[in-house]
Amino acid sequence: MQCLICKEENDEFAVTCRSCKAFLQNRVPNLDLFKTAWKVLESPRKVFHTIALAEHKNYSFVLFLLFGIALSFTGFWLFQWGTYFTTLLDLLPVAVGLGLVLGLLSTLLLTAIYHLSVKMVGGSNSLRNSWATLAYATTPIALTLILLLPIELMTFGMYLFTSNPHPYTLKPLSYVVLTGLDAVFVLWSLGLVSVGTMVVHRIPMVRAGLATLMTFVIFGGAFLWGAPYVTALW
Ligand SMILES: [Zn+2]
Repeated sequence: MQCLICKEENDEFAVTCRSCKAFLQNRVPNLDLFKTAWKVLESPRKVFHTIALAEHKNYSFVLFLLFGIALSFTGFWLFQWGTYFTTLLDLLPVAVGLGLVLGLLSTLLLTAIYHLSVKMVGGSNSLRNSWATLAYATTPIALTLILLLPIELMTFGMYLFTSNPHPYTLKPLSYVVLTGLDAVFVLWSLGLVSVGTMVVHRIPMVRAGLATLMTFVIFGGAFLWGAPYVTALW
C-alpha cells in the first residue's frame, strides 16, 4: 500500500505510514460476529482483509466451537456412534459436549497444521491471523448446524447415526439432497480458506489452494486416525 502523501510503500495491513505517520486506512478495533460472518459469505476478499487488520479477533473461538460440534455430528454419522445410545435425547447432549472438546482441539491442532502448511508455501502473516482466518472461513460449516442438521434430525432421527437401516434406504432422495448440501457447504468453507489465505498471507491462488488442500488432508487424516479412540470411549 502506497502512502498518498509521501509515496512510501507500506505493508497492506499498516494503519499509519511508516515514514510520515499519515493515516493509510481505518483501524479496526473489533469484529462483529454476524456482520463479519455475513460478509465472509458475501464479499470474502474484502472481509478477510478486515479480519487481518482487526486488533481483536472476536468470536474466532466461538466459531471453532461450532466447527467442533459440526465435526462431532459428522463423526456420529460416519462411524455410527448412535448405536451406543438408546434415544436421540441421550445422544444430542453427548454429541454437543464432544463437539466442544473437538472445537478446543481443532483450535490448537487445525490452526497449527494450517499455519505450518501456509508457511511452507510462503505465507507471511502471524499465527493469530491464521487462526482468525480459519475461524471465519468455517462460517458455512457453522451454518449447516442451523440450516441442515435440524432437518436431518427430523427426517432420519436416530437412523442418521446408527445406519440400521441406513438412512439412504429409508428416504433416498432426502438423504442424497441433504448430504449433497452438506458437501457443498464444506467445499464452500474450503474455498473461503483459500481466498482468506490469499488475502491474509499475500500468496497466489494456487499456493493458497495447495495449503488448504494440505490442511484438509492432514486434519482429515488425524480425524480418521482418532475416531476409533472415540469409539472406544462409549
Ligand atoms: Zn507517508
